[in-house]
Amino acid sequence: MDNGNKQIILTGDRPTGRLHLGHYAGSLKRRVELQNSGQFDEIYILIADDQALTDNADNPRKIRDNIVQVVLDYLSVGLDPEKITFCVQSALPALHGLTFYYMNMVTTARLARNPTVKAEIQMRGFEDEGLPVGFFSYPVSQAADITAFDANIVPVGEDQLPMIEQTREIVEKFNRIYGETLVLPKAVIPENECQRRLPGVDGKAKMSKSLGNCIYLSDTPQTVKKQINGKMFTDPAHLRIEDPGHTEGNVVFAYLDAFCTDGHFAEYLPQYSCLEEMKEHYRRGGLGDGTCKKFLIQILEETLRPIRAERARWEADIDAVYDILLKGTMKAREVTNGTLERVQKAMQIDYFADRRIVNEWEKILKAEK
Ligand code: ATP
Ligand code: MG
Repeated sequence: MDNGNKQIILTGDRPTGRLHLGHYAGSLKRRVELQNSGQFDEIYILIADDQALTDNADNPRKIRDNIVQVVLDYLSVGLDPEKITFCVQSALPALHGLTFYYMNMVTTARLARNPTVKAEIQMRGFEDEGLPVGFFSYPVSQAADITAFDANIVPVGEDQLPMIEQTREIVEKFNRIYGETLVLPKAVIPENECQRRLPGVDGKAKMSKSLGNCIYLSDTPQTVKKQINGKMFTDPAHLRIEDPGHTEGNVVFAYLDAFCTDGHFAEYLPQYSCLEEMKEHYRRGGLGDGTCKKFLIQILEETLRPIRAERARWEADIDAVYDILLKGTMKAREVTNGTLERVQKAMQIDYFADRRIVNEWEKILKAEK
């Protein structure tokens, strides 16, 4: 189905912690640009608390407490409640209904093949502990989130690509069986490879709240400095400044790739005109890790300073934050209820929408006689 050529964005985050630089690089920065482009009819951002509970069922407090943190992070990076509808998943019962029906559109074998789910199962130790059905099937609920808003654009980091693929398959199957009902969405990921999947400060995996390898948008300048100087890996073979170094697999350079612009060189490191020149010097030898880290800290501070200031402003008015979330969630409730109705009608389970079903039933009974 097309949605009347409307441009609708749906994206979201799990309230499992404050948002970090990986979110900023992979998704938040792009969201702000899309919001300001004026090309979209509707933008919805969903705080996926139900999804977060699929692997945090024993820790509801964590999810409850982090709702406000995530909204504060949104507001502080410049997402504008006048242009965006912020909503909370658990308060949208239509999403549960859609998930239930979409379960029939997916096989367990297909879910088990989803590479992101596979990696996350391993990371969370569910292979040994036992795998909650809710976690295993969260891609189905994500399909419900996306389609409930008739979204055609979903801006995400690279780890989410298999989810959007899964959603597309569900949409195609549903439309094939029940007629054109759902909108086919498309993922939008950053062009820059390091932004798509920012590694953690330890360089081991993607930066992820659940792995504790993060620089948070709300971290103090002291913490950022400590994380970079104390934890961030460079090239273990680069022992002395004059040694040749590797920039591939070097976490500091991955971050520079994701965040620095030529303008940053003019401002902080004018001996180079661009990152490639700096990398060449590092590879040749003669450029110390300390200089690279200092440059990275300066760049990140330029991004983080205004974010912290904006957060402080909103932190002083949590009442207003609550109202933004309430208003957005009420609007989203209406929109998603509308989609559930459409889906139930397509599935012919809308018995109470039209009393003429009585005539239908009577006809069947008469025909049997
Ligand atoms: P959790 O550990 O609870 O899964 P997370 O840190 O992976 O948390 P999510 O809420 O799952 O964060 O992801 C929200 C969005 O941010 C998704 O679009 C995801 O692709 C993007 N994202 C998360 N981590 C990164 C990263 N390191 N690099 C780029 N994008 C990321
Ligand atoms: Mg995640």
